Amino acid sequence: MNPKYRKTVIAGNWKMNLLPSQLRDYADGLKALLGKEHWCEAVLCVPALMAIPLGRALRGCRVSVGVQDVSDRDMGAYTGEVAAAQLRDAGVKYVIVGHSERRAYHGETDELIGRKLRKALEEGMTPILCVGETLPQRSAGTEKDVVRAQVKTALLGLDAAAMKKVVLAYEPVWAIGTGHTASPAQAQDMCREIRAVLRERFDARTARAVSVLYGGSMNPRNAQELLSQPDVDGGLIGGASLDPGKFYQILEAAKP
Ligand code: PEP
Repeated sequence: MNPKYRKTVIAGNWKMNLLPSQLRDYADGLKALLGKEHWCEAVLCVPALMAIPLGRALRGCRVSVGVQDVSDRDMGAYTGEVAAAQLRDAGVKYVIVGHSERRAYHGETDELIGRKLRKALEEGMTPILCVGETLPQRSAGTEKDVVRAQVKTALLGLDAAAMKKVVLAYEPVWAIGTGHTASPAQAQDMCREIRAVLRERFDARTARAVSVLYGGSMNPRNAQELLSQPDVDGGLIGGASLDPGKFYQILEAAKP
């Protein structure tokens, strides 16, 4: 990570886990550990219905509320969807877009993900754009081509000023929820590649300013080494974020 140029972001992704009735205990546990100290951007991306109560439960501590998806449409007749304007009004600051589970189970394309990303930006929220290759793609040696294409397509039409408001997350699909964490060298290599795409597509200053996270079985044991890589500016954490103690340990691993 390079805090001189970029924000360090540690974001939890609860996926479809935990109950609203468990929020208070979680938030109290995390607040007790965090105290008043603040050294990085801490975010919890929760199911949309938990955004408002989580924001209330976290009052007084500097942890931002995020969600895991957003509609690509403006408010209106789209049953089951949640609009960016509604999320913003509910106090949401971060929105994950393009998670591999949404790509795999909901058929999300890079074009749709790009539209969602722009909706989040229009409402002043920070999109966390997830990209990453599958195991067969890595075995075939195409991982960089895959990730390059995902980044380029999702960012079509964006200018440099908007790009600086986006966070990227490299999440190799084979590492998500599997316990097979990418090696620090693999994480660094792809995060550097993503930054190279940003340099080509925008400019050096923009590439240097954008935080690129690593996600995929990050835990309190491996976080420090992953986060010490020069192009890894934080983590997107699934399983380990469900326990406030583990999430806090990962936040601690991000201390400069
Ligand atoms: C994720 O869901 O974004 C993730 C990285 O999950 P896990 O940490 O459980 O691998």
